[in-house]
Amino acid sequence: MTYRKIDSDLLERLYGIIPDRNRILTEDIDLLSYSFDASFGSFKPEVVIQPLQTREISSIVKFANENKIPIYPRGQSTSLSGGPLPVKGGIVLDLSQMKSKLQIHPDDLIAIVSPGVITADIHKAAEEYGLMYPPDPSSSSICTIGGNLAENSGGPRCLKYGVTKDYVLGLEVVTPKGEIVRTGGKTMKNVTGYDLTKLLVGSEGTLGIITVAILQLIPKPKSDETLLAAFADIETAGETVSKILTSGLLPSKLEIMD
Ligand SMILES: Cc1cc2nc3c(=O)[nH]c(=O)nc-3n(C[C@H](O)[C@H](O)[C@H](O)COP(=O)(O)OP(=O)(O)OC[C@H]3O[C@@H](n4cnc5c(N)ncnc54)[C@H](O)[C@@H]3O)c2cc1C
Repeated sequence: MTYRKIDSDLLERLYGIIPDRNRILTEDIDLLSYSFDASFGSFKPEVVIQPLQTREISSIVKFANENKIPIYPRGQSTSLSGGPLPVKGGIVLDLSQMKSKLQIHPDDLIAIVSPGVITADIHKAAEEYGLMYPPDPSSSSICTIGGNLAENSGGPRCLKYGVTKDYVLGLEVVTPKGEIVRTGGKTMKNVTGYDLTKLLVGSEGTLGIITVAILQLIPKPKSDETLLAAFADIETAGETVSKILTSGLLPSKLEIMD
């Protein structure tokens, strides 16, 4: 497919969608700082837009389709796989600024969040109610929940608790055509129809742009302990891991360091 370059006419039309010009970045220095993630390679976008509302994203996606402009959602760009890089130029949608919603509903054991909320902040907010948000990618303190959902991220606690997809109950998404759709809901047993929520999780932004997520929380254990054991060789350490896992004990994390 041939993509269209964003000229001054198209830029003017973008200002019509996002009248706050501070949220449309075109300076070379800005574009450069959006040209990489934590993987290799560097690709400069033509324009960076910082949407704050779902309907703004919907309008931008429709505009991009109409004018054949590629579009890339981006959280904090800690991706190790190049997902947020604008390999064909076009628009980078910086969703890290869309972070106004971080609601904990303790009685329902759920959190409702905007895509730009930092993952560790969800866990911190849940802890105030004696709850926890288990997925803990090592980048938790710098990455967004939107990025985690798009990458189905998991961290050391996945051994006991699972990964991001295991804690998503519902999503609001802008589809590649610019429609706003909602999947799933606020309850665990939400089983009617196709499980579009799980299909969207891990789709790396290709199936839609996540604008709201409903996440499941669980009670936080009253206490936890960390043990360090030293081994003379790696084989014995590996065998010990298997023995622990088959003994009836399931630690939340288990790691061998050489
Ligand atoms: C030091 C370090 C440690 C890491 N540790 C882990 C780890 O333990 N486990 C792990 O799984 N990963 C890990 N990662 C990788 C990375 O942090 C995760 O993939 C994280 O989920 C990316 O989040 P982000 O906000 O930076 O998203 P980005 O890197 O900006 O984007 C990642 C992908 O998600 C898409 N995307 C972003 N937001 C949205 C949205 N709202 N809607 C749709 N698509 C969207 C982007 O297009 C891209 O494809 C680590 C990275 C670093 C640098």
